[in-house]
Amino acid sequence: MEPPAPDPPAAAARPPIEEVRFLPVAAPLADLPALVAAVSRRLAVPCRLIPELPGLDLRELAGRNQLDADPFLASLSARVENPTRPVVAVTDRDLGLRIFTFVFGWAEVNGKAALVSLARLRPEFYGEPPDPALFARRAVAEILHELGHVFGLEHCRDANCLMHFSNRIEAVDIRGIELCETCQGRLGQPFERGSGGVGGGY
Ligand SMILES: [Zn+2]
Ligand SMILES: [Zn+2]
Repeated sequence: MEPPAPDPPAAAARPPIEEVRFLPVAAPLADLPALVAAVSRRLAVPCRLIPELPGLDLRELAGRNQLDADPFLASLSARVENPTRPVVAVTDRDLGLRIFTFVFGWAEVNGKAALVSLARLRPEFYGEPPDPALFARRAVAEILHELGHVFGLEHCRDANCLMHFSNRIEAVDIRGIELCETCQGRLGQPFERGSGGVGGGY
């Protein structure tokens, strides 16, 4: 008898994630060790900071004081040899695309690399007083959202799900930090938590 087809094939076909690596880019990021530690507590795989990956394409979008996320991501992915050890580049620079005025992050779906910009996650960007706890919550959520893409998830219609699309900071705050049951079920490892390691085998 044929076993049932895995659902969805892209996520199921992925080899298990061994670790997630974080790379500060284009800014000294004093916040990064604490953010990596916070992300690590929500994943069932090790997370670690790496010091550098030379040769990244950090060109700006013409006249926009933003890094162009497309060549940045492509050049990062080209430096990542093993899809089981993806890299998230975290930067204080604003990120944009030719077709989007800005993005909070940018990632390959079922890929090896993701970008996260902290620039628009700070309350100060919107003229509000600094709020380190709010900033950290947004940053962890944005990192996890982009990792969800790297691990194979597309956007989710559930406005309360981590994988909901957001192009406004209000939507980032509404969607929160948890995957909906459907997205969680699609991923399994490495978003499993509380098991102390990889489990389940799905
Ligand atoms: Zn997304
Ligand atoms: Zn979802």
